[in-house]
Amino acid sequence: MSSLKLDIVTAERVVYSEDVDVVIAPGVEGQLGILPHHAPLMTILQAGELVVRRGAEEDTLAISGGFLEVRPDRVIVLADSAERAGEIDVDRAEAAKKRAEQRLMGKPAEIDTAMVEAALRRAMARLTVAEKIKRRRKL
Ligand code: ATP
Repeated sequence: MSSLKLDIVTAERVVYSEDVDVVIAPGVEGQLGILPHHAPLMTILQAGELVVRRGAEEDTLAISGGFLEVRPDRVIVLADSAERAGEIDVDRAEAAKKRAEQRLMGKPAEIDTAMVEAALRRAMARLTVAEKIKRRRKL
């Protein structure tokens, strides 16, 4: 079976660079599944879970938004930030979630609300990915 080269990069580093079979990414309009030979595409990602399948293996990463480009047999993700599941600091994400929730309970200005909601979505994505990996390790 042919594969796709997936590169996930941020301004700081290359987070992931592997030959993969399937990419499932959090597009702004919903989950986006990409297989080899997918038509060329450029889209915006929202904060969420990015799942990669390679053979029997599955890797999960937390993405905080960015761009995804599909080229022939290649997928490039330019992420605002991205962490592999094992890199996620759960206490830090819990603290960020709590901070955002508390701010939303106050009366933030409209501009703050959008920023705080985005911070909440980033924290939730990290916690979802970390929790999924923890559950899988227990099985
Ligand atoms: P915080 O408020 O905890 O800084 P944040 O959502 O504002 O969270 P970002 O601006 O998205 O953080 O990311 C800044 C850098 O910190 C990025 O390199 C990102 O990968 C890393 N990062 C943020 N939160 C975590 C986390 N919980 N675990 C591991 N790395 C994290």
